[in-house]
Amino acid sequence: MSYEDAFPPELREYYRKLFGSEAGEIMASLRTPVEKYYIRVNTLKTSRSKLMSLLKKEGLKPKRSPYLKEGIYFDREGPNFPDDYEPGLPVVRANKFASESVYQGAMLYAPGVLQADKKIKPGDEVEIRDPRGLLVGVGIASMSAKEMVVSTRGLAVEVTLPKFKLPSLNELESFREGLFYAQSLPSMVVAHVLEPGEEELIIDMAAAPGGKTSHIAQLMQNRGEIIAIDKSRNRLKKTEEELNRLGVKNVKLLHMDSRKLPELGIEADRILLDAPCTALGIRPKLWESRTPKDIEATARYQKHFINAAVKSLRKDGVLVYSTCTLSYEENEANVRYMLGKGLKLEEQSVFIGSHGIDIDGVQRFYPNRHLTQGFFIARLRKV
Ligand code: SAM
Repeated sequence: MSYEDAFPPELREYYRKLFGSEAGEIMASLRTPVEKYYIRVNTLKTSRSKLMSLLKKEGLKPKRSPYLKEGIYFDREGPNFPDDYEPGLPVVRANKFASESVYQGAMLYAPGVLQADKKIKPGDEVEIRDPRGLLVGVGIASMSAKEMVVSTRGLAVEVTLPKFKLPSLNELESFREGLFYAQSLPSMVVAHVLEPGEEELIIDMAAAPGGKTSHIAQLMQNRGEIIAIDKSRNRLKKTEEELNRLGVKNVKLLHMDSRKLPELGIEADRILLDAPCTALGIRPKLWESRTPKDIEATARYQKHFINAAVKSLRKDGVLVYSTCTLSYEENEANVRYMLGKGLKLEEQSVFIGSHGIDIDGVQRFYPNRHLTQGFFIARLRKV
């Protein structure tokens, strides 16, 4: 299956119109995990050099980000076999979520198994495929075919040759102690572009699971106040756990629909709108199901958040708008909408991506050019 088949035809066409001859490269990159896997040092608790030595003691190979002083990355391993590799082994078929994990180096657990060749018994070498047939890894069965299909827990296949491998860090002591947060490089740029002041009132309108909120708190040295909003109760619960793990203390979590933000009657110094989006920039994608129709609907949805943000920002306040998607409508077109609402674009203090499609002063990250997730950042001021 070629990378092209991973995208609906309407979306392929959309990418060709928007990105021209670069569209193919972009789609091929989206199919693979990021080349450099980033974590953010939690400077509320440690320093980069201390964390680097702890990680080295765990046998890992952390590297310093040349761009951000709290950034550490690990090189991706792989691809460990070519796209046309056919091991010819009995097949275990995993669901999309489990396949994506195996594809990046995780083990396969029974709840993720959809089907397995009947003859498979523990100890057999097997190949693992996603629901559409893509080979994501090879491993040794820990269960019989029947067991791995019916069990609701337990290791089904010990993956010995995943297509790619990213480090798994969540079991480390340094993770439990809250010394770092796994966060992509462009996501880490966002809090810097916001430039929060230590005594300011910041609103994060789409905060869960708290990646950017906790980074902002870190830049504010746990001072001032951040109101972090999300409409998902489950995701807010996760956010609360993460903020506790990281030792963040200046955040008030609010469960509400951010489109109603003006009803709170608050005037913030700075607002982050890390908008819910079509997430077309997230890597890796075994396949994509969104189409240009989803892009249009989501761009419309985002305008409600923008209207609410403009009303809740004090005069001269700063709004940072970001998405993890590649479309024009959710990015530059929405920035044009903001310019029509009395906001002015501002320079970004960290600029390591590319300029926008038809607006220079915004920052775009392309998976093929910058070897990151696809991402977009704009900084505006209410004048
Ligand atoms: N900023 C987060 C971070 O860095 O970890 C990621 C935010 S994610 C891109 C978008 C979030 O918007 C989701 O957690 C989703 O639950 C939330 N969301 C979607 N619609 C919302 C609404 N109407 N009001 C508030 N939050 C909403």
